[in-house]
Amino acid sequence: MRVLVSGAGMAGLSAGINLGNAGHDVTIVERAQHLRVNGSPIDIRGESLNVARQMGILDEVRARRVDMTERGCLVDENGNRVAELPFAEINDSPDDIEIPREDLAHVLRNALGSSVTLTFGESVAELHDDGRGVDVLFTSGGRARYDLVVGADGLHSATRRLIFGSEHQYLRHLGFYTAIAHAPDYHATGTPNPIYNFPGHLAGIFTYRDVTLAVLNFRSSWIDYDYHDLDAQKRILTAEFGGHKRWRVPELLDAACRDPELYFDSVSQIDMPSWHRGRVVLVGDAAYCASPMSGRGTSLALTGTWLLAQALAEHTDNLDAAFAQYERDQRPHVTYAQGTALAGGEWMIPATQEDIDTRNRKLAQAS
Ligand SMILES: Cc1cc2nc3c(=O)[nH]c(=O)nc-3n(C[C@H](O)[C@H](O)[C@H](O)COP(=O)(O)OP(=O)(O)OC[C@H]3O[C@@H](n4cnc5c(N)ncnc54)[C@H](O)[C@@H]3O)c2cc1C
Repeated sequence: MRVLVSGAGMAGLSAGINLGNAGHDVTIVERAQHLRVNGSPIDIRGESLNVARQMGILDEVRARRVDMTERGCLVDENGNRVAELPFAEINDSPDDIEIPREDLAHVLRNALGSSVTLTFGESVAELHDDGRGVDVLFTSGGRARYDLVVGADGLHSATRRLIFGSEHQYLRHLGFYTAIAHAPDYHATGTPNPIYNFPGHLAGIFTYRDVTLAVLNFRSSWIDYDYHDLDAQKRILTAEFGGHKRWRVPELLDAACRDPELYFDSVSQIDMPSWHRGRVVLVGDAAYCASPMSGRGTSLALTGTWLLAQALAEHTDNLDAAFAQYERDQRPHVTYAQGTALAGGEWMIPATQEDIDTRNRKLAQAS
């Protein structure tokens, strides 16, 4: 089949590998001019490790493992350690692998087969599915026809909007926002990977290899802004953190406001009754975002694209049967991953000083 994949994140690249290996002729279009590799390291967990093995990338992934989260530690406003992170509870099994996003993106890109084309600076503008194929108009003005379109364009998926309607029907905001920035001029002193809370807020400095990241998370109801507008994101962060002068919050806010590749988004989930319509199917965050709080978004992207390719291979002449199988097999992974997210947020970003103190006391007693 001629397949178009929209988005070259972890889901889009995995779709390219799995569908290309199954013999399909795949084009991936990515709106950015390059792979978007900022953000903090991500986890490959549970069943997705097995999928990574079958995709032939597990050894490469293992070789790039980091232990950033494992070294996280809660501190007070003077930078003194107050408790360790309960790593055993965060991590489901010792086999789970934490890997920088840039490393995983490059491993996946290198594993794309010769039947896969990756085009940057391109995006879908219109999709017209006539039952026998999908006519695509690209934002560049180009047109092409495909047998199958795979939407792998993330939480704010354009494919989902074009085929299934507006985002707000499917998006469930969990009540938090997250920002991750490169902070090359700031380093953790003393305590490694310190995390500081004030009511409803988290500020952290995370390091792995020679990279330093500033992390700013906060509780908030839904904020209406243009999520492509970097200046708006920085204004929101400044409104949230600008008034807090303790610990190293001003430095981290400064780092976030100076990073042209700042990652900022709501902590939200996508909940859809079905991930396909006609010849268009969704994978990854576009279909079933579990949010960064779940630590399972990338795992879902790997298993989902693998299961989709398997289902298409088993039902070569029947897309509906293939999509039904994909949804049946992937849904339990999604339900589990989404179910784990909210507890993580409550625990990492306590709402009040009393909640912060209670959590710290519990953790200190446990360690
Ligand atoms: C820059 C960035 C930083 C991230 N940082 C973290 C993090 O620190 N921690 C965490 O848990 N999760 C993070 N995530 C989310 C995490 O990568 C995903 O939850 C998970 O890997 C599933 O990936 P995905 O490919 O479905 O979605 P995404 O990783 O969001 O990838 C979607 C891709 O589609 C592209 N795209 C979007 N719209 C279009 C369009 N209209 N046409 C073509 N391409 C389009 C995007 O540029 C992006 O490359 C980040 C995502 C991004 C994009």
